[in-house]
Amino acid sequence: MTTDLTARTTDALRTLGVDVDAISGSDLDARSPLTGQSLFGLKADTAESTAQAIDAAYQAHLAWREVPAPVRGQTVARLGELLTEHKQALAELVTVEAGKIKSEALGEVQEMIDICQFAQGLSRQLYGKTMPSERAGHRLQESWHPMGVVGVISAFNFPVAVWSWNTALALVTGNAVVWKPSEATSLTAIACTALLDRAIADTEAPSDLGKLIIGDRAIGEVLVDSPKVAVVSATGSTRMGREVGPRVAARFGRSILELGGNNAAVVAPSADLAVAVPSIVFAAAGTAGQRCTSTRRLIVHESVADEVVDKLAKAYDSLAIGDPFDESTLVGPLINADSYERMQQSLAEAKEQGGELVTGGDRVEFDHAPEGHWVKPAIVRMPSQTDVVMRETFAPILYVITYTDLAEAIELHNAVPQGLSSGIFTSDQAEAERFISAAGADCGIVNVNTGTSGAEIGGAFGGEKETGGGRESGTDAWQGYMRRQTTTINYSGTVQLAQGVDFG
Ligand code: NAD
Repeated sequence: MTTDLTARTTDALRTLGVDVDAISGSDLDARSPLTGQSLFGLKADTAESTAQAIDAAYQAHLAWREVPAPVRGQTVARLGELLTEHKQALAELVTVEAGKIKSEALGEVQEMIDICQFAQGLSRQLYGKTMPSERAGHRLQESWHPMGVVGVISAFNFPVAVWSWNTALALVTGNAVVWKPSEATSLTAIACTALLDRAIADTEAPSDLGKLIIGDRAIGEVLVDSPKVAVVSATGSTRMGREVGPRVAARFGRSILELGGNNAAVVAPSADLAVAVPSIVFAAAGTAGQRCTSTRRLIVHESVADEVVDKLAKAYDSLAIGDPFDESTLVGPLINADSYERMQQSLAEAKEQGGELVTGGDRVEFDHAPEGHWVKPAIVRMPSQTDVVMRETFAPILYVITYTDLAEAIELHNAVPQGLSSGIFTSDQAEAERFISAAGADCGIVNVNTGTSGAEIGGAFGGEKETGGGRESGTDAWQGYMRRQTTTINYSGTVQLAQGVDFG
């Protein structure tokens, strides 16, 4: 299996324009959760080569910031074309490295194409405001300028889309990018960088605009601490954000933090269960529960709780678990053995805290991949939101809690420290409005009759509280990659001070 997978991976890398011999080395293993084994060895970066990459990106940005934004947009548009052309091969690598089923891997690459199109449009819409001045013969305006180098740190579970959200926006706004991907997904990162390099060459943009650094958190720390990196956009666990955020702040850098979630869906008595149940199954069990937006808590009205749990359990029992390349598979493997251990630990704690396992939780073993870690997604009924429910376990566990009225549901919903994504299933409009109002759910993303996962790129993406407060992707998230400049222009030929100050 590993030999076949290595050959398949090598083919995909070559199709994507990667020189496989040039990346081979013995510093780091490229592994696949499909086998749990190493595919081949890779070269990793050092603190020195990381510093060189940052310097090169900094130099590239000096030229890039003078290129008109709509022209910069052409480079990102070219990246979008190359991604469209290579969608299958890149999705294949996403499946190999992150274990995503085929359809979700293709969806992730589609999201990259979408953001490139969005960013190209944006390149003609980096609007600044003009304000009336209080002084005669004066004009007051705001304009937006590039920040410099944007450092991108990404997690294993969205190995390519998160980079593209950041990179497409950072490039059209005139920055260069240095990317530190998860150590679990170096190959997809190498492939994306090969495509970006091609887009850069095809559009005659500065060659060092998109640098890649391969390695573990130690080289991520070089990026975090470098005064030449104006923005650090870091996606990963809240633990990582707790380390990265203060370090960037200590040097007065800007950070965009996209951290852990503990997302809940509320099921009201009036919910259409034909919509609610499949949406919850996808959000809780899809991607083997390894999305930042995965539904981890189900807050269900006591009058429909038994029926909902029964329907969910039936749906869970029919989930096809296995090879993510197989079209019929819905649940692929967990990323590694640690992830499996953490899931088992949480299930044991849930039991100690009064939980009752409804279904799932067992390991599913395949002869061809004894070191792979597949699990049956689990549903656990909990008496209340105990400690284990309050934290994010990055695996497919759905905790079910009941409520009696909407105020209680909202209170339960908001009681966790994370604030990424939420959903309510209801046919009662007043209830839906209450849930999305200022007095409702406290997350960055709040959905009605749609699950917590599967965001579109048009809306700003991110969450509050321990999710970090960052926003990426749509609407005005581009402002996170630019500095705002306020300018007063005096064409009156006289000296006039603001607020009527007279200085002789
Ligand atoms: P992780 O925190 O272990 O690693 C994420 C990245 O941070 C990796 O590239 C890692 O090398 C790097 N890193 C870790 N510590 C660092 C440090 N001190 N300095 C610099 N870099 C450091 O996360 P993971 O296991 O890869 O991904 C799963 C987590 O990511 C979950 O908590 C999930 O919710 C979160 N996530 C959040 C979002 C979001 O948009 N909010 C999206 C995807 C994943």
